[in-house]
Amino acid sequence: MGKQVLFWPELFKETDKGLVLVANKCKKCGAVSFPKNELCVFCLGEEMEEVELSRKGILYSYTITRVPVDKWTAPHAIGQISIPENQLRIVAPLIMEDENDTFNIGDELEMEIAKYWDDGDNEVMGYKYRPVKKKGGK
Ligand SMILES: [Zn+2]
Repeated sequence: MGKQVLFWPELFKETDKGLVLVANKCKKCGAVSFPKNELCVFCLGEEMEEVELSRKGILYSYTITRVPVDKWTAPHAIGQISIPENQLRIVAPLIMEDENDTFNIGDELEMEIAKYWDDGDNEVMGYKYRPVKKKGGK
């Protein structure tokens, strides 16, 4: 039997809410960097503090790839996701219910840990976003 392994574990932190994504916030200008950066990419400030990213996002833009890319099977959706609570936009895979699934700009999303791909017997897990309305059917 394989096990589940996290892709890029440094992106996560275990909390009482489960795994959350962590980012860095610049102490000088307040800009949030994800993944974490040593330096602030906006003001080159060097003093950063760790912040937890909210699980809630809003779909800003997305694309669906109909051919396999590297380890990703097709179809495969990638979104640009606004995280209003952290004033940040990140890129992340979106969960498709089936191969004809589509998304709407402005969809409310929630982060969850889901499978990226198989690696031998193991399942490589990472963060994905799922439209909230799809929980338990539309
Ligand atoms: Zn800064």
